[in-house]
Amino acid sequence: MATKTLIGQTKILVGGEFVSGEGQPLDILNPATGEILLKLPEASVEQVKSAVGSAEKAFDSWSQTTPKDRSMLLLKLADKIDENAEELARLESLNCGKPYGAVLNDEMPAISDCFRFFAGAARAMTGAVSGEYLAGHTSMIRRDPIGVVASIAPWNYPLMMAAWKLAPVLAAGNTSVIKPSEQTPLTTLKLAEFLAELFPAGVVNVVMGVGETVGSALIHEPGVRMISLTGDVGTGRKVLEAATSSLKRTHLELGGKAPVIVMDDADLEAAVQGIRVFGYYNAGQDCTAACRVYAGAKIYDKFVAELSSAVKSIKVGLQDEDGVEMGPLITERQRSRVAGFVERAKMQKHLEVTAGGGSRQGAGFFFEPTVIAGALQSDEIVRREVFGPVVSVTRFSDTGEAIRWANDSDYGLASSVWTQDVGKAMRIASRLQYGCTWVNTHFMLVNEMPHGGLKASGYGKDMSLYALEDYTVIRHVMVKH
Ligand code: NAD
Repeated sequence: MATKTLIGQTKILVGGEFVSGEGQPLDILNPATGEILLKLPEASVEQVKSAVGSAEKAFDSWSQTTPKDRSMLLLKLADKIDENAEELARLESLNCGKPYGAVLNDEMPAISDCFRFFAGAARAMTGAVSGEYLAGHTSMIRRDPIGVVASIAPWNYPLMMAAWKLAPVLAAGNTSVIKPSEQTPLTTLKLAEFLAELFPAGVVNVVMGVGETVGSALIHEPGVRMISLTGDVGTGRKVLEAATSSLKRTHLELGGKAPVIVMDDADLEAAVQGIRVFGYYNAGQDCTAACRVYAGAKIYDKFVAELSSAVKSIKVGLQDEDGVEMGPLITERQRSRVAGFVERAKMQKHLEVTAGGGSRQGAGFFFEPTVIAGALQSDEIVRREVFGPVVSVTRFSDTGEAIRWANDSDYGLASSVWTQDVGKAMRIASRLQYGCTWVNTHFMLVNEMPHGGLKASGYGKDMSLYALEDYTVIRHVMVKH
């Protein structure tokens, strides 16, 4: 399909109307070529205000709909996504530079399933019993929607993040103003078409624009009752500052630096293949990426050699290339940030780049899949989130040390342990301070289970019944007989 036809709907959605943004024009790129796909005007502050006003107005009736009614609409939305999966995947792949096959086969089914899961979950919430806790009075607990949720998404999985942000919010009876990343708005703007067709005007509004202008205007709007952000730790702080004076609720999914503990008794081939996939998927631009490996002393040398050779075989290329496994980084800025980490690592004598290590020549923002061995716990490459295709490997001498180093991080989102001893896996998992610990795998998510972090990775859960809890408030209603 020609790029122009593919791009289609690009207006923002405010109060059920598609309107052109009235703010500054922004360049929307194809990161695999660096080419400007189109210029899109961001929303003006007035349009953000109007979107929040529409969501407030729509809340009155939407919050009074039955779970069944909301569920039916979410199911229809999931069907629409499935019917248009190829087109949406093409658009996502174009705007993010990702391999088309990966978007179509990995992301799209998980996106429609997210809406289906919350369609069911909306009707199946359970809670505390009602009863007479004071003679002559009956008490009951309600779980009610909060109001207008400002949903702010990042660029790494734009449509999936929109699904994580919208499905539980709508299922719970809230209304939303969602802002995709200014780098990757295309699939969310396309989704707006289905949202406008299915949902009453104002229930979901889609605005587009950069964080400092449109995002900031949105989170400071008095009509917003809750801010839900997936993004950088620094942006998380700004959200908290905005929420301080108005006491808005917040839901923060921030960065990560996932430790991967490979024990001496691990199935080495499985660990190498696992990290080859889960360290470099989406070019490592993933908050759960398996990027910080701790390998047991006995297997360390073999592991580094095998991982490096496996990583060199990752096929990097354009969205549609045969067998392509990894695309470019999202922007030139992101690529130079990643290159900066690797260049600084190269200057350290104890570190060795055993695979990749540089930018790919030619068009697009490609960076080679990279392994850095010999890393120490104090090294920048071990401590800071790179958000690119770079995995560090550190040698450990005993289990206690591995757990201590794994937990010695500002972040607390995801982790994994690789061992063939189930008891050992359970003991280590119980001591890791991370929102998720995988055993003998990494990265796998299901809509039934929660995703979210501790420490600087934020708080609040995406997916699962816990997200539905996060987007509702508990209320007590007491009746005097
Ligand atoms: P970012 O924080 O720069 O941007 C995220 C969103 O916040 C964008 O829509 C942006 O426009 C908006 N934003 C930026 N400044 C703002 C402000 N002042 N006010 C309001 N909104 C503002 O992050 P990014 O570069 O798009 O994404 C990468 C980051 O996201 C990484 O740190 C990554 O770890 C994190 N991430 C976390 C998860 C998770 O589930 N924990 C998932 C994906 C990405």
